[in-house]
Amino acid sequence: TGAVRWYPVPDLGARAEQVAAAFQQAYGAPATGVWAAPGRVNLIGEHTDYNGGLCLPIALPQSTLAAARATATGRLRVRSAQRAGEPVDVALDDIAPGRPGGWGGYVAGAVAMLAADPAAGPLGGLDIVVDSDVPVGSGLSSSAALSCSAVLAAAELAGLSWADDDEGRARLVQLAVRGENVIAQVPSGGLDQAAALHCEAGHALLLDCADHSLEQVPFDVAADGLALLVMDTRAEHTHSGNEYAARRAACEEAARELRVETLREVADDPVEATLAALDERELRPLVRHVVTEIDRVRQVCALLDEGRLPDLGPLFDASHASLRDDYRVSAPGLDVAVEVARSAGALGARMTGGGFGGSAIALVPVGSVDDVALAVHEAFVERGWVEPAFLLAEPSSPGRRLR
Ligand code: ADP
Ligand code: MG
Repeated sequence: TGAVRWYPVPDLGARAEQVAAAFQQAYGAPATGVWAAPGRVNLIGEHTDYNGGLCLPIALPQSTLAAARATATGRLRVRSAQRAGEPVDVALDDIAPGRPGGWGGYVAGAVAMLAADPAAGPLGGLDIVVDSDVPVGSGLSSSAALSCSAVLAAAELAGLSWADDDEGRARLVQLAVRGENVIAQVPSGGLDQAAALHCEAGHALLLDCADHSLEQVPFDVAADGLALLVMDTRAEHTHSGNEYAARRAACEEAARELRVETLREVADDPVEATLAALDERELRPLVRHVVTEIDRVRQVCALLDEGRLPDLGPLFDASHASLRDDYRVSAPGLDVAVEVARSAGALGARMTGGGFGGSAIALVPVGSVDDVALAVHEAFVERGWVEPAFLLAEPSSPGRRLR
């Protein structure tokens, strides 16, 4: 067995220099600026965003950087270090649902929504170079890090200072979400983009998806001698797109049957008799997950308020069980990572993100971090699986201009 694999913690200043240099190399002109947006892990509140529920993400130090300048070419040109062989070059007027396809849709969507905003000045064209330290496709939201770095760059180059306050940032979140939904054609719910643009260092973000209100919740695991270990199973989530859409559709069906706008209303005012009316095998467990998960977010916030961090463990465990058994979005790699982490000393662990692969998190006493990572690594190697990779989640800064 090889060594345990850790994702590097980026030096953002040095990375910004690198991306600016890559921009100069690619386009033969200097970038006007470099913007960054972070990946995220959701502490708890999974599959609740599109049900008008609560979530509690933190921003990661790992970020996506976008060096950019405005042009007069009428075109959007984008290169990514993670997609070196697939540069994007599209006329701004040609950006449409599904066009450009693939990864360029995340950038083009943000740019097109921004350009269509009446407040934005004319956008004559845009050159962008992207580079990222957020693992791609690991459930840590490299997608929103990409669309949000692009929307930050495009907004400022269009003369808007929306990143300067919460209200403006909320507008940028909406543009990034719409760009993903309409152009990239990904039905993302809003949690990821809000996390990338609103999370603050040292805090988790309590996001109420019913009214889009935000609250910064101090989150300092280190003060309690704990660490939040992210375990990337590096398992391909092949069916995640279809399954995600199916869960969303089922939640909408359940809401219709229960005659509520969103399942949030059931969470706020649970009526056992009403739930009993739902099909026991299909819809009822899904609603049960959403309702209990929203309640767990409230419990986690109450514990954080009281400084009782170690007590988060059982709530993480309950969330995982609910996602595995009721919502049915876990995967073998996630279940093994969670169980092995617990036996090796974690106080609690759960899958995070949409599921069907991706990452899990574990709350671990600092002294046990290496043991837990090694145990999970060995469990994967024993099974002949791809080696997992790890990082320690330090609640970090929101998307912003770096230089
Ligand atoms: P996650 O957001 O959890 O990383 P997704 O499947 O939602 O996983 O998003 C991954 C997709 O986002 C990639 O397939 C690619 O299209 C796009 N993407 C993310 N980061 C980058 C990047 N740095 N360069 C190019 N494309 C990226
Ligand atoms: Mg994503």
